[in-house]
Amino acid sequence: MASSLLRAALRAAPLILPLFALTVQGDTTLLDFEQVQLDSKHSHDHPALSFAKTKRGGGNGNDGQEFGHTHPPETECRAFPGSDDWPSDNEWRRFNTSLGGALLKPLPPAAACYTGTPSYNLTQCRYIVNNASSGSFFHDDPVQILTQWTEGNTCLPAINATGTCSQGGFPVYVVNATTVKHVQAAVNFARNNNIRLVIKNTGHDFGGRSVGAGSLSVWTHHLDSFQYLPRYTQGNYTGMAAQFGSGLQAWRVFNYMYDNGNITIVGPGLRSVGANGGWFASGGHGNLASFYGLGADQALEIHVVTADGRFVVANADENEDLFYALRGGGGSTYGVVTSVIVKAYPPINTTRAQLSIACRPPADTNARAPLAQITNATFFVNDTALYWKALGVYFQFKKTIVDAGGVDWDYLYPLQGVAAPTNGTVRNGTTNATVPATGPGFSFRVAATFPNRTVDQVATILAPLYAAFRAVPGLAHITLTRSEISTSPYAGARTPVPGSGLSQTRYRSRILPRVNWATEASFETTMSAIRAGVEDGGYTWHGLSIGATNDVAGYPGRTAAVNPAWRNGILHGIFITQQPTGLTTQAARDEEARIQRYMSVLRAVSPGAGAYMNEGDPGEPDWQQAFYGSNYNRLLNIKRRRDPWGVFWAPTTVGSEAWEVRTADGYPRSQNGRLCRVRATTATAASPAA
Ligand SMILES: Cc1cc2nc3c(=O)[nH]c(=O)nc-3n(C[C@H](O)[C@H](O)[C@H](O)COP(=O)(O)OP(=O)(O)OC[C@H]3O[C@@H](n4cnc5c(N)ncnc54)[C@H](O)[C@@H]3O)c2cc1C
Repeated sequence: MASSLLRAALRAAPLILPLFALTVQGDTTLLDFEQVQLDSKHSHDHPALSFAKTKRGGGNGNDGQEFGHTHPPETECRAFPGSDDWPSDNEWRRFNTSLGGALLKPLPPAAACYTGTPSYNLTQCRYIVNNASSGSFFHDDPVQILTQWTEGNTCLPAINATGTCSQGGFPVYVVNATTVKHVQAAVNFARNNNIRLVIKNTGHDFGGRSVGAGSLSVWTHHLDSFQYLPRYTQGNYTGMAAQFGSGLQAWRVFNYMYDNGNITIVGPGLRSVGANGGWFASGGHGNLASFYGLGADQALEIHVVTADGRFVVANADENEDLFYALRGGGGSTYGVVTSVIVKAYPPINTTRAQLSIACRPPADTNARAPLAQITNATFFVNDTALYWKALGVYFQFKKTIVDAGGVDWDYLYPLQGVAAPTNGTVRNGTTNATVPATGPGFSFRVAATFPNRTVDQVATILAPLYAAFRAVPGLAHITLTRSEISTSPYAGARTPVPGSGLSQTRYRSRILPRVNWATEASFETTMSAIRAGVEDGGYTWHGLSIGATNDVAGYPGRTAAVNPAWRNGILHGIFITQQPTGLTTQAARDEEARIQRYMSVLRAVSPGAGAYMNEGDPGEPDWQQAFYGSNYNRLLNIKRRRDPWGVFWAPTTVGSEAWEVRTADGYPRSQNGRLCRVRATTATAASPAA
C-alpha cells in the first residue's frame, strides 16, 4: 500500500523533479532519471508521442489518459528509410525537439576509415583500428556492436579501407536516453509510426539483438545511476539491496560494491557486459552462479517502460506477469528496463584454481608440442587417448565443483586450432620442456572459482580430482600445488575500464544436464559428443560449469522465467567459430549446416535440455524450446498481451517467429534488412502452439 501511495504521489508530481534518488527503505524507490516521465500534455502537444490504448483498460500515461493506436498496424513491413510511411525530416526534427535534443543520427564509427563518408578522418581511423579495443570506445558508441557479422559487415574498420561504408544493419536514429521520458517518447514514436525499435546497451550481444536496419534505437548507456539500500523489503525478502540503472556496466557496479564496503552483487564474469541489460534479461551467469544464482535470480523489483509507453513497476505483488517474464524471458521483448533492485550480500572472497593440459599426438612429426600454458600448473601428455582420458577425469569432476558452489570456465583448443597461448614451460611428467606457441596438437585450460572458500578448503575440494589423475597410468604427474590456488575479495579493488575489441565470433550452446553425469555410459557419450566437435569438427570448445539450481536461486529467483535447462544443468558448452567476412550466402549456409551436424550430436546426448540464448546461436533450430524450454508458451501469452503491436523485436526473442528480416542477399541471421511479417504459409510452420 505504501508503495502505491508513493507511486501515486510521484506520478502526480511536476515533470521535472530534483535530480536525487528518492530513497524509501523497504519500498519502491525511483532513481533520479526515472522521476522525469512523459505525461499526456506532451502527447497532446505532439501526437506522435501518444500513449497506446490497451485492451487491458486502466491505460494511462501514468496520469489516467488514453491516446494512440489500439491495434497493431496492418502493414506487411515496418517503415523503412525511403518508404512512404517513413517520417519526414521535419517529423524527426520535431521528435528531437520533444526529446530536448537527445536524438542522434550516428554513422558507424568505422566510417572514419572510408574516404566517401562525411566523418572520414585517418587519425581517428588509426585509433579505432589500433587502440580502441583497449578501452571503452566501442562500449561508449551509440550504435557499434561487438559481433560485427550480425549487422552485415557493412562498415568494417581498416586502415586504407577499400570498398564502401554504409549504415547497413545499424540503426538510423538513436535516442540517447537519460530519462524515462526519453525512453517513453522513443517507444511511443516508434509504435505510432510503425518503425522498428531496437534497444542497445553495451552492444555485447552475439546474436544481432541490439542492432537493426532502418530502426530507431533506444540507447540505455547513460541510465547509469546507482544506490545502495542497506535494508530493503520486497515480498518475502528483507535484507541488503542495490538499485541501479540498466545502462550500468558490470565494472562500474563492482566499483560501487567496493565503495560501499565491499558488498557483494551478483555480476557477469566479464566486466564490460551490462549488469542489468541483456545479461540479466536472459539469465546471466558469473562467478557466483552456483552460489547465489544467476543475474535474473537477484531481481526484487524491475522498473520498465512497456510497449504502450507506460512506465511501470514489476515485483512479486504488482505486474507479476512482467516480473516473471523480465527475469530470464529475454531482453528486447516486453519493455525497456530502466532499473532493477537486486539483492546485495555481505563481502566474500572468491578462491580460484587453474589447470592446463597440452597434448601432441606422437604421430605428428611436424615439430614440437603445442602449448597450453597459464601458470606453472601446466601439464603435457603425448598421447591423444590419454589426453582425452585426462579431460574425462576433469569433466567428471565438474559435478563436484558446482555442488561445492563453484563454477569453472574451460577452453578446449582443437588440433591445429585457433591461437595457442604464449610460450612457456610445461611439465611432461619427467622434465620441464620449453615449447613453441604454435603447432599441431590439443590444449585444455580451465579456471575454477569457489565463492566463500579458503585456499585450504579449495585444496580439500580438489583433492579427489588429483587422486583420480594419479589413479590413471600416465597421468600421475598431474598434481596440485598450493601456489596454484589464489584468493581475493569478490568486489576487490576499484576496477579499471575494461576493453573489448570487435569480433566475428559465433557461439552455439548446449546446457548439459546433471543426468548426463549419472552413469558412466551417459558420461562417456557426453564426452564423445564434445570430442567429436573438437577433434573431428575442429571447433574450439568453451565450457562453463554452473549449478544454478532452484535451491541456489532461492526467493524470488526460483519463480523467474529463467530457462529451466539452467536449473538442472551442470555444463554450459559452446562451440565457437569466427564467421569469416566475405562469405557468400551459400557458404554461410553451408557452414551453418556443417556445425549443426556436431551440435546435433550434443543435442542427441541431452534430449529435452536447452541452450543459453546470450551465448547461443541466432540460427539455433527449435530455439523456442532450446532458449526458453517449458516457459515458452506462458512467455508468449505475456508478450502478446503486453505488446500486441510487436514493438519490441529481436531475433529468437519470444514471439519473434511472427517477423523476419528480409536481407538483399538472403545472408542467414543478418540484421541488414527490412523487418517484415512472416508470410502466412511460413508463419504457420514457424509458430509454436500457443
Ligand atoms: C566479451 C563478452 C563477455 C561476456 N561475458 C558474459 C558472462 O560473463 N556471463 C554471461 O552470462 N554472458 C556473457 N556474455 C554474453 C552477454 O550476456 C550477452 O552478450 C548480453 O546480451 C549482453 O547484454 P548487454 O545489455 O550488455 O548488451 P546489448 O548487446 O546492448 O544488449 C543485449 C540484448 O539485451 C537487450 N537489452 C539491453 N538492455 C535492455 C534493457 N534495458 N531493456 C530491455 N532489453 C535490453 C538488447 O536489446 C539486446 O537484445 C558476454 C559477451 C561478450 C561479448
